[in-house]
Amino acid sequence: MYFNNQTIVFLNGKFEKATNATTSLYDQTVHYGYGVFEGIRAYSTEGGVKIFKAKEHYERLKHSCEAINIPFNYGVDDLIDKTYELLAINNFKDAYIRPIVYCSPNMSLTKPNEVFIMICSWEWGAYLGEKLLDLCVSSFCRPHPRSIKVDAKVCGHYVNSILATSEAKATGYDEAILLDSEGFLAEGPGSNLFFEKNGILYTPQTGNILPGITRATVIDLCEKMGIKMELGLYTQDYLENADSAFLCGTAAEIVGINSLHKKAFPQKWEDSLGKKLQIAYKNLVLEKS
Ligand code: PMP
Repeated sequence: MYFNNQTIVFLNGKFEKATNATTSLYDQTVHYGYGVFEGIRAYSTEGGVKIFKAKEHYERLKHSCEAINIPFNYGVDDLIDKTYELLAINNFKDAYIRPIVYCSPNMSLTKPNEVFIMICSWEWGAYLGEKLLDLCVSSFCRPHPRSIKVDAKVCGHYVNSILATSEAKATGYDEAILLDSEGFLAEGPGSNLFFEKNGILYTPQTGNILPGITRATVIDLCEKMGIKMELGLYTQDYLENADSAFLCGTAAEIVGINSLHKKAFPQKWEDSLGKKLQIAYKNLVLEKS
């Protein structure tokens, strides 16, 4: 699904066939989840293939490495150039891009001996569906910020996300919302949360969430579009009493939420601020006015 015999990946400075690219089963990242990654999207625009917020994503990759003491031996601009090259070689246009920085064999709980980078990509058309999500509040909470670096996109953190999404799907929901360890609304397993009440948009403040690049884009759009918004700590009942809500992230883009615990939000998605922002976001990534 992610690659075939022709697919090329970028591995430690070279482009090579995905089918020939290998790593060691003794890698520290395989054993301990001690590595960092990014999720980026490229869009086919009228001006050619454009990677949306490329700099922000590679800066976050760098920040994630530094946050957990993995040496980052790359230049952000160089990685962006290599990613455009990778897309061109594979002839990908609407694509998802997955860089990962991972660590060499080391079974001890110490800093890595050697660090590697791999960038792969696959064609993944822009999300155009209009299906709204049925969500539950997860029985799992986000990890405490004194346990991990919440603002870093670290491989091992995603066990928490997998548990939450799997539980949600097993109990008949599309996705979960996680609270933080204090019981405040945090985020989705791979997306940030916004909700609307009386014409104002609310989103959890940073501190217990991954500060998403899509979230930052939505906040910018609100400013440009004159949409009033507030950041803060909100308990679950704020979401239960909201008029409408949505999740956002690079992969999901902006996706409306139909219900929480099967109780539908009262406002029609078509009439919500989320829908307006969904259209504006799509225009922005496609570089349309
Ligand atoms: N929260 C979590 C836990 C995520 O994994 C993601 C996806 N990276 C997001 C939020 C959204 O971040 P972004 O908009 O940068 O993709």
